[in-house]
Amino acid sequence: MTIKDARKLLDSRQITAIELVQFYLKNIEDKNKELNVYLEVYDDCLTQAKEAQKIIDEGKAQSLTGIPLGLKDNILIKGRKVSGASKILESYTATYTATATQKLIDQGAVILGRTNMDEFAMGSSTENSAFGVTKNPHDPERVAGGSSGGSAASVASDMALGALGSDTGGSIREPASFCGVVGLKPTYGAVSRYGLMAMGSSLDVIGPITKTVTDSEIIFNTIKGKDKMDSTSIPHPDFVSTSPKLGEAKKIKIGVPYHLLEQGGISEEVKENFEESVAKLKSLGFEIKDIKLLNIDKSLAIYYIIMPAEVSSNMARYDGIKYGLSKEGKDLLEVYKKSRGEGFGPEVRRRIILGTYILSSGYYDAYYGQAMAAREVIKKEFTVAFDAVDAILTPTTPAPAWKIGEKTSPLENYLADIFTVSANIVGVPSISLPSGYVKIDNKDLPLGIQLMAPHLGEHILFEIGKKFLKE
Ligand code: GLN
Repeated sequence: MTIKDARKLLDSRQITAIELVQFYLKNIEDKNKELNVYLEVYDDCLTQAKEAQKIIDEGKAQSLTGIPLGLKDNILIKGRKVSGASKILESYTATYTATATQKLIDQGAVILGRTNMDEFAMGSSTENSAFGVTKNPHDPERVAGGSSGGSAASVASDMALGALGSDTGGSIREPASFCGVVGLKPTYGAVSRYGLMAMGSSLDVIGPITKTVTDSEIIFNTIKGKDKMDSTSIPHPDFVSTSPKLGEAKKIKIGVPYHLLEQGGISEEVKENFEESVAKLKSLGFEIKDIKLLNIDKSLAIYYIIMPAEVSSNMARYDGIKYGLSKEGKDLLEVYKKSRGEGFGPEVRRRIILGTYILSSGYYDAYYGQAMAAREVIKKEFTVAFDAVDAILTPTTPAPAWKIGEKTSPLENYLADIFTVSANIVGVPSISLPSGYVKIDNKDLPLGIQLMAPHLGEHILFEIGKKFLKE
């Protein structure tokens, strides 16, 4: 079932919001133990559903009234626990509600619980969660992707109709691709970051994970918009069907940087699937154009400088005094050291050390300064590319989901982000669409394609995506 289907059933009184939430709670009961998708299922889901049913009965239902959704464990709801899948916040209760979540709650959506993730969103597999890995619903021996692995798996396994994730370098798109669902990373600033635990503040954005593009659009339209609590948020225009540019151009042009597929490390299955997807888009009437993005291969290096620099500064707030875990020590320094040493997992510590090094005097210009300059080069490259095409197409990931525990070095994990980080560096919207399956070990593993559009061009992604998936 999709959000659109459920809306029809609820509005025509064929089902109640209570029945709907019971269906999802039953699935959670049956599957969550094995897959480890939810870190917590809220105990008031039925109460939320009853409230939603009242709204429906009063004839005041909106698009998400009564729709059961999952919430990544780094997005706050006042009075509820939220941990960022970190030991340091294991018993932390939020003191305010994220704007994006508030907008869902205002419509009467049913928030089912907190979905698993890599600790503070740092990772590509949820293997960095302090509370165990999330398993892929298509093959429980494999990862669900990350960092929003719980959110993607919740949708793929019918443990939620949709979910919110966050994306700093691919954390919505990569797990969506691994789980065979749709993941949207909106334009930077299009969704308020107020109440999202900060990772890389110039890169972070909240977005939806759903089964269809139509559902993605429904959630995005609900959560987007300027927010006075986030000065980097921007107003997002309401586009009705197509933009004037698309209308004029008639035929949407999709640019494909084929040269990116020639770099090493892209699996044959991904290349084949990508070719099939390009052929399908052509047959749907889209114009495909070979384009060159000559500096995009530097994106990963740029990301892995800027992100840890911002991480090291954002993580400073977890000091054992203001929030969460607090260890005793003989002086303040020892309190810091013990609380942070025991509270943070290895990947978070690694990035704090990297970021602190990058920002230290003597190295700042060589690393951070250069990465920021290179970021401008990539931005310009995208601006030029978008003068010639309406969207850019790549695979979402270089390979399908890997086996749990298979990747042993951090660098191997970082390489999974090769196609996704550019959109965050540039700030443009990007969507991952399921593009079929590849059979490995007798299991059908999903693959995905990624589309990027100019700033505020979500409507272009929706238009192409709806044609590609037919929903
Ligand atoms: N996989 C990337 C990383 O580890 C992206 C994470 C994210 O988008 N939050 O940094």
